[in-house]
Amino acid sequence: MTTLDRRTMLATGALAFAGAATRSAPAAADTAAKPIFAIDTITIPIAGEQGVFPVRRIYCIGRNYAAHAIERGSDPTREPPFFFQKPTDAIQNVAIGSVADHPYPSLTKNYHHEVELVAALKSGGTNIPADKALDHVYGYALGLDMTRRDLQNGMAAEKKPWEIGKSFDHAAVIGPIHPASKTGHFDKGAISLAVNGTIRQNSDVSKMIWSVAEQIAKLSEAFELKAGDIIYSGTPENVGPVVKGDVLLAKLDGLPDLSIKIV
Ligand code: MN
Repeated sequence: MTTLDRRTMLATGALAFAGAATRSAPAAADTAAKPIFAIDTITIPIAGEQGVFPVRRIYCIGRNYAAHAIERGSDPTREPPFFFQKPTDAIQNVAIGSVADHPYPSLTKNYHHEVELVAALKSGGTNIPADKALDHVYGYALGLDMTRRDLQNGMAAEKKPWEIGKSFDHAAVIGPIHPASKTGHFDKGAISLAVNGTIRQNSDVSKMIWSVAEQIAKLSEAFELKAGDIIYSGTPENVGPVVKGDVLLAKLDGLPDLSIKIV
């Protein structure tokens, strides 16, 4: 590239920034543009595969088991589902057979476990019909939607966004993804969470108010879903606090156990 070319391109770019009136002539694309520093690509291991699953977005559904909706103070009738997101780099991968150290986060004094089935998408779209939705699922994992409950509740009480209660480092604990081609889809199956050997949460994914297929359909009305999106499908009742030293053991019929220790 000559000096003149670069000057011309820079000038064009500067003008394009300066005002809409100049935007009809697009700036010359600088195909050599490079990020000024590298950031990690977030991935989740896939059980039995060499490849890993790249994560695009993390969606979560709220209050998707009636008994949990009641304990959170809402009506468990079939209201439209609601969703929130966690940042992609909130993923904490946990290997099968390990007990991963999970740091107790800052600011909270009431840190809660929420055991959940997670669906991982290989494709997406908008306005996906529920009867086609499972075609977009690559596989499933067991996950923990870790929650700073005091911060979530405090913000909710003030009618402020409760992002700080849900979206923080390590808040999306997850085991390896298992291809649906091997596990099938999860319309039923016992799901549980024990803390230090005592069962706290104990339910069945058949008790979800909105099935995974329905969640995908509803989500796709609000967002264009794409390959790499994962969906935490909601937690059953009896969420509760953990403290440093606690060992959590999550189970879901059809997937390996998931375990972390709060440190
Ligand atoms: Mn949750």
